[in-house]
Formats: sequence, structure tokens, C-alpha cells
Amino acid sequence: MMVMTLEFSRKTLIDQKSLLMDESFSTNQMVAASEDVLEAKVADVHLSVSMVDNFANVAGAADTEVEYRCARCLEPFTASLHAPVEERYSWNEQEAKRIDAVYAPDDKVILDDLVEESLLLALPSVPLCRADCRGLCQECGQNLNMADCSCEKRKVDPRLEILKDLLSSPESE
Ligand SMILES: [Zn+2]
Ligand SMILES: [Zn+2]
Repeated sequence: MMVMTLEFSRKTLIDQKSLLMDESFSTNQMVAASEDVLEAKVADVHLSVSMVDNFANVAGAADTEVEYRCARCLEPFTASLHAPVEERYSWNEQEAKRIDAVYAPDDKVILDDLVEESLLLALPSVPLCRADCRGLCQECGQNLNMADCSCEKRKVDPRLEILKDLLSSPESE
């Protein structure tokens, strides 16, 4: 599949007032940047760029399907990812500072980094195959979503363990 650089030109934008972008975007960098992501489809990026006063307003979203490794049970699972994309660009450095826009020194503005960042921001910090994923047994490693294990379900507080040792140690005086 052909994956293009996302960009627009100020000249074209001024001529046409607004631009619609409907492009495919590679998610290879996102996959490389996140340990929880095993694979991802090429993202569909829909953006509208409009000239507002003296700056360009970019708004839209990137959508893709991501294969994650569940943080609890370590099983792979697939979920859709919707990443809102929003930014302003100004070709005037002072104005850019004033309105908190990105300064664009050239006619051409490349949106790849913006979309890249937006995708990373939209990733879940703790990907779970389902909200109530039971994870793995810490003793035997059994995936508790699939079956229960026969390990004793006792939880020993390590502080109590130390106390127990102290109490049982011989202190004959
Ligand atoms: Zn899970
Ligand atoms: Zn177990």
C-alpha cells in the first residue's frame, strides 16, 4: 500500500480556503515506539485544514486497528484506536507564539509528526484485553480467564512474614 507524507501548502490553502485530507498513514513508528503494541494496520487519516484569520487550523482524526499485548494476561488482542488530531500553524513567528500555534517557516507544512504524536497519545497506558481481565496466577502462570488453577489463594503480607520470622527466632536470655 502506498503511504504518503501528510502535508499541505499555505498557497493552496489560501486559494481554496479549506482543504480536506483523506489519506493512509503508516503506523510503523507507533508500533516501534510502544512495547504494548504488537502490530497495527495502516491508519486512515481524515483531516480538514482551514485558514482562520492568519493561521491554519488542522482538525480531524486518525483511525486504525491495533494488536496489543494485554498488560495482565499477556495475551494478544485487537482493538480499534481513534486518535483525535488538532493543531494550529502560523507562518508568522510572533503570531505563532501569541496564539500558541506551531511556527511554520516554509510554505509547506508536514503533518506526519503531529499525526504520529496524536496516535501515541491515544494509546491506552495499560492495555487490557477486557476491563475485568483476571490475568495470570502469580504462582503457576495459569491464565485465569481460561480456567482457575489449584494454587492456594493465600496472600501473605511480606511484612507479616518478617514478623513471623522474628517471633519464631530463639531469643533465650
Ligand atoms: Zn487480559
Ligand atoms: Zn496458580
